[in-house]
Amino acid sequence: MRILIIEDEYPLADAIQEILKRNNYAADIETNGEDGLNAALTNIYDLIILDLMLPQRDGLNILKELRKNHQTTPVIILTAKATTDDIIKGLDYGADDYLTKPFATKELLARIRAISRRKDKIIIDNLKYEDIELNKYNRELSCITTNKKIKLSEKEFLLLEYLINNQKIIITKEQILDKLWGKESLELEYNNAEVYVSFLRKKINFIGSSVKIKALRNYGYILEVNYDS
Ligand code: CA
Repeated sequence: MRILIIEDEYPLADAIQEILKRNNYAADIETNGEDGLNAALTNIYDLIILDLMLPQRDGLNILKELRKNHQTTPVIILTAKATTDDIIKGLDYGADDYLTKPFATKELLARIRAISRRKDKIIIDNLKYEDIELNKYNRELSCITTNKKIKLSEKEFLLLEYLINNQKIIITKEQILDKLWGKESLELEYNNAEVYVSFLRKKINFIGSSVKIKALRNYGYILEVNYDS
């Protein structure tokens, strides 16, 4: 799961990023409203943590723009102004939840878990596709027919999660770069995506699964299953 933090207080943004990373989420930070909106519109994020008082463009405006563009990524609002009006406005504009500053990190994590459970594509603890299961908490990949297991690295996990959540859809190398590296992806080359696909293929083979990551020349990748081979 990749999370976008839009927050202009650097220490708070860094602290949230640190907590998220420790809990196996990938997280990027944007510190002004304009960059925040542009990042959110890339559609690579599974959740957005949004401050309301931001330079250049405020949080409610970002939220409005996102929903106007039919972007349904869940949003948790962070607000120092705990006025009921702001909270009601935020929820009316399509926020999924809100937290008032200061908040306990445990509470933030619980809200994130609650939202992931509500997102219909994500199954509570394990993501499943054909004969493989992926544990979201310890990043363990297992094959239900062979019972073999292997632990995935953070990026391998993000890649497989992305492929499973978008099964039947071709995922391009560019989308893989954005998903795995977020903001840093601009400095990378397409073969970084190929490298991670090959790591993941080796692990899927190792556990004896029939799942394949099929490459479609000049398009990208898609999951498929081949029980005969
Ligand atoms: Ca702020």
